[in-house]
Amino acid sequence: MTTPLRELPVHAPMNQFAVRQGELVVGEKRLSTLAEQVGQTPFYAYDRALLRARVAELRAVLPPAVKLHYAMKANPMPAVVGLMAGLVDGIDVASGSELKVALDAGADPQELSFAGPGKRDTELRQAVAAGVLINLESFREVGALAAISQDLALPARVAVRVNPDFELKGSGMKMSGGPKPFGVDAEQVPRLLGEIAAAGLAFEGFQLFAGSQNLRADAICEAQQKSYELALRLAQDAPLPVQFLNLGGGFGIPYFPGEQRLDLTPIGDNLAQLQLRAQAEMPQAALVIELGRYLVGEAGVYVTRIVDRKVSRGLVYLVADGGLHHHLSASGNFGQVVRKNYPVCIGTQTDAATTEVASVVGPLCTPLDLLADRMALAPAQVGDLVVVFQSGAYGASASPQRFLGHPECLEVLV
Ligand SMILES: *Cc1c(COP(=O)(O)O)cnc(C)c1O
Repeated sequence: MTTPLRELPVHAPMNQFAVRQGELVVGEKRLSTLAEQVGQTPFYAYDRALLRARVAELRAVLPPAVKLHYAMKANPMPAVVGLMAGLVDGIDVASGSELKVALDAGADPQELSFAGPGKRDTELRQAVAAGVLINLESFREVGALAAISQDLALPARVAVRVNPDFELKGSGMKMSGGPKPFGVDAEQVPRLLGEIAAAGLAFEGFQLFAGSQNLRADAICEAQQKSYELALRLAQDAPLPVQFLNLGGGFGIPYFPGEQRLDLTPIGDNLAQLQLRAQAEMPQAALVIELGRYLVGEAGVYVTRIVDRKVSRGLVYLVADGGLHHHLSASGNFGQVVRKNYPVCIGTQTDAATTEVASVVGPLCTPLDLLADRMALAPAQVGDLVVVFQSGAYGASASPQRFLGHPECLEVLV
């Protein structure tokens, strides 16, 4: 008797990109042609049509009154932010320089919000002058904003970022519950609201962000419900009616074998219920969800060229001209506990009839520089292009490009 082969978990199909003449198609171009257009490898390419399609898909399930914001730290490339600014209702920034990019992109300051622990006074001044909503994350920021507001003779628009008293279940990166550097603990918020009122700041609402990279619709719905309930309770102590209730986001995308795309339908239904409640219970409040990764992640690829092929003790190594210095998260070194492979393919050999087991490594002199660990890939040679999917978020800007002094990568919106 033979033991049956154990079914290995596989990557979700990366069918958002078409295939033509044996090559992946990105931005309506065959990959090798796109590489010529870019003029170098490695590069990131973000596909406009896919960005538009993703927003349309969300709009189709979200209640029309719920606002969709883009958390631009996921992908701050100015051209991407420019495109997104025209598609979503608002942009969430996390620094003074992101604020500049969002304003340059034409984002409406009324719908722009600024969050992050450790905002410097210079950044707070920029935000007050720009007239954007500032998500307060500490008691110190109240005093600082009151002084800046007086100094500039401009009102400071504020919301309170709450560190909820619950956790987002199944989240890849927990951002709430227990001690956290983000926001103000829910139990301290009534006192903070008192200080906001005393300082005469223009209170406009709450932001609750429970976590990131969640693939469980039930957990996201639960977090949204609990966030709503918590905000409703806290609103009793607010000096002014809530105008913005930002329920966070945390929508995930499938990166690793066994993961599947998020089912949006229950989330849309849940938000529709909350929207109905808000109409009655917080009539001036607009519900907001803020998404980074979910909006841009699946629309981007990282493309790197094979510069060497070698076999070491039976294992094929494809040595590429890019690696962890451009794409830290695909190398497994950006928050992963156990390294797993991103979906990867040989983008210039999509019609290959066979596969071989190979590892794709970068040019850095460290074993951490690994883009694919023993994956079944189309047989590839020097000159072929390796594609790392799911690379539109937390790629270029989240990577240590200077490490080892190799050339920087380019980014294109196509
Ligand atoms: C990072 C961040 C986001 C975006 O998270 P994603 O997982 O990329 O959707 C949204 N809101 C806040 C406050 C954040 O810090």
